[in-house]
Amino acid sequence: MNVPELFGSLVFNNAVMQTKLPKDVYKALSKTINEGRHLELDVANAVANAMKEWAIEKGATHFTHWFQPMTGITAEKHESFISPTKDGCVLMEFSGKELVKGEPDASSFPSGGLRATFEARGYTAWDPTSYAFIKDGVLCIPTAFCSYGGEILDKKTPLLRSMDVISKQAIRILKLFGNQKVKHVNTTVGPEQEYFLIDKELFLKRPDLIYCGRTLFGARPPKGQELEDHYFGSIKPRVSAFMKELDEELWKLGVLAKTRHNEVAPAQHELAPIFSVTNTATDHNQITMELMRTIANKHGLACLLHEKPFAGINGNGKHNNWSLATDYGANLLEPGETPHENAQFLLFLVAVIKAVDEYQDLLRVSVASAANDHRLGANEAPPAIVSIFLGEELTEILESIENNTPYKGKETELMEVGATVLPHFPKDKTDRNRTSPFAFTGNKFEFRMVGSSFSISGPNFVLNTIVSDVLEEFADRLEKTDNFKKELKEIIISTIKKHKRIIFNGNNYAAEWVTEAESRGLSNLKTTVDALPAFITEKSIKVFTKHGVLTETEILTRYEILLENYCKTIHIEALTFIDMVKQLVIPAVVSYENDVLEVLGRKSKLAISSELEEKLATQLAELGGALDRKLTKLEDGVLKTKDIADSLELAKFYRNTVFNDICELRVTVDELERLVSKKHWTIPTYSELLFSVM
Ligand code: ADP
Ligand code: MG
Repeated sequence: MNVPELFGSLVFNNAVMQTKLPKDVYKALSKTINEGRHLELDVANAVANAMKEWAIEKGATHFTHWFQPMTGITAEKHESFISPTKDGCVLMEFSGKELVKGEPDASSFPSGGLRATFEARGYTAWDPTSYAFIKDGVLCIPTAFCSYGGEILDKKTPLLRSMDVISKQAIRILKLFGNQKVKHVNTTVGPEQEYFLIDKELFLKRPDLIYCGRTLFGARPPKGQELEDHYFGSIKPRVSAFMKELDEELWKLGVLAKTRHNEVAPAQHELAPIFSVTNTATDHNQITMELMRTIANKHGLACLLHEKPFAGINGNGKHNNWSLATDYGANLLEPGETPHENAQFLLFLVAVIKAVDEYQDLLRVSVASAANDHRLGANEAPPAIVSIFLGEELTEILESIENNTPYKGKETELMEVGATVLPHFPKDKTDRNRTSPFAFTGNKFEFRMVGSSFSISGPNFVLNTIVSDVLEEFADRLEKTDNFKKELKEIIISTIKKHKRIIFNGNNYAAEWVTEAESRGLSNLKTTVDALPAFITEKSIKVFTKHGVLTETEILTRYEILLENYCKTIHIEALTFIDMVKQLVIPAVVSYENDVLEVLGRKSKLAISSELEEKLATQLAELGGALDRKLTKLEDGVLKTKDIADSLELAKFYRNTVFNDICELRVTVDELERLVSKKHWTIPTYSELLFSVM
C-alpha cells in the first residue's frame, strides 16, 4: 500500500483544485476559502464543473449536500448528475447553483419549535472551507443548514461563527504584542475517539443495543477490566483487520488517522487523528464515526459509540484536545522561547482559565445528554464538576506571579511577567492526571467530558465563544492603556486571583473533591436536566448573541431540542426494556421455573430430598414477583408522561421517575440472569458480548 498516494485520493483538496481549476478560478476560490470572500456564480460554475469531472473519474454518479442537523449525525440526500438530452440520452451535469445551495425539506429535522412559527423549508449552503469528498460513489459537499427565515438548524454554522469570532479577538491580542504578520487564528482540535467492538450476531440478539445503543441489563461478568490486561494489549486479528480497513478508508478521505490501540475495558478501543483546524476536525470525526459503524458491519462486528454500553465497565469518551494556532502554524498555548512570547502565552492561558471558570455551566451543557449522564461522575470519567488541571509546575508559576514570590524557592527567579522565560512543560510532566475534565497537557487543553457519540461541534463552539468573550475583554483593556506592560501584568494577576478556584490538580474521582468543589463555589450539575437550564439564562444568551454565534431564538430552540432528545432517549429505553422483559426475560424465567417445578413434582412423588429445587423455586417466585411489580411501575410511569406538557417538567419526570424505574427493574433482571439456566436465558450475556471477538 502506498499511503501517500492513497491519502486524500477521494478528496477534492487543494492539490486537486490547483491542477483541475483554471488559474483565475483557483485564485478566486482560495480567496473565498481563506478570507471568506463571496463567490461569484461564474466561479462557482467552473468549480462545480471541475468537481464533477473529477468525481466521475473516481466513479461517482451522485452528489449530495452533506450536512449536520441537530440529530448529531450527518444527513445526505443523493442527487444523480444525470440530465436528459433531446434524443433520449443523458448528460452528466452539475451546476454552480447546485454546488452552492441545496433545498432539502427541513420539516423532518429537529427544529425545537421553529417549524411551528417559521417556514418548513430549509436550505443548505456550501462550506468551501471543508473539502468535498467521495463516499460510496457520492460526491459529498460539506454544507451548513438553516431555515428559510435564516435561523440555523445545524451543528456546523455556530462552529464556523465561533471560529471567526475567536480569530478576530485573538488577532487583536497578537497585534498588541506587536505581531504584524498574523492574518488568521484557528482553533485546532484532535478528538480521541473511543468505541467498543462486539460480535454482530450477538448484537442483533439484543434489542437494547439495537434501539438504545446500550445494554439495559446484564449481570456483571466474572472478569471485567480489573486486571487491566486489555489496555495497549496486542490487538486481536479480527479487530486488527477492522482497524486496517478503517485507517485505509479514512486516509482516502484525507482523515489523519494516527493512533490506534486497545482501551482499558475489554472490547474497547481508541482511534486518534492528528489534530487539524476545528471545522475539518469536526467533519472528519463525523466521517470517522460513520465509517467505524459501516466497516465494523462488513467485518461481522458492531461498533458501539454509546457513552455507556455496559454498566460497571468503562464508558466511551471523546477527548477533545484543543488549542489556538496562527495561520502560519504558531501554537498560542505553547510556552515560548522569549519572555515576550511567554507573557503572551500567560495571557492566553489565563483567558482560558477565566472563561472556563465563568462559564463552567455552559461547558457542562455542551456535553450534556442522557447517555453521557451515565459517564460523567461515574468513577472512570471526569465528574460533572468542571475544573482545570494545570500540573504542579504551571500552578506554582502562577502562584509565584500572583504573589510576587520566588519560583521554586530560588530568590532570583521572580516570575515577572514579560521578563522571564518559562520552562517548557514536557507532556509526561503535565499529563499525569487522567481524572481531570479539562487538563492542560503541555501545549493544549484536553476537554475530557465530551461523550463518544457527540458531534464535537457543540463543545467547541461553546469553548471558542467563552474564550473569545474573555479575549475581547482583555483586548479592550490593553488597547486603551498607555502602559501596556503594567496593564498586562495587572490583568494576569487579577485573573489568577479571581479564578484560581477552578484549578484543581488532585484526584477528581475522590469523594472529597465534591465537598471541596462545593466550598469553592463550583457548580456540580449532575445530570442533563440539571445542566440544560443554564443554557437559557440571561448570561448565556448574552455571551452567544453578543458574539453572533447563536441568536436568542436559536438558543431557545436548541434548548428545546436537547430536552426533547433527553426525554425521547429515556422513553425509547423504557419501551425497549418493557418489550425485552415481556418477550425475553419473563418467558426465560417461566420456562426455567417450569423445569424446576417438574423436577420438584417428580422428586416429591419419590420422596427424595428437594432442598435445592425448593430454594430455586422460591427464589424464582420471589424475583418473578418483584419483576412484575417493577415492570408495572415502569409501564405506569411511561403512561404518565403523556400528561406533562412543560418540557423541563417532563424531562425531570423522565429522570426522577422513568429512569429510576429502569434502574430498579434492572436490578431484578440482573439477579434473574444469575439464577436462570443458560439453556433458558437466550439473551447474550456481558461475558459473551465482551469476550467473544477473537
Ligand atoms: P493522549 O492524550 O492519548 O496521551 P496525545 O496527547 O499525544 O495523546 O494526543 C492526543 C491528541 O491531541 C491527538 O489527536 C493530537 O493530534 C492532539 N493534539 C496535539 N497537539 C494539538 C494541538 N496543538 N491542538 C489540538 N490538538 C492537538
Ligand atoms: Mg488524551
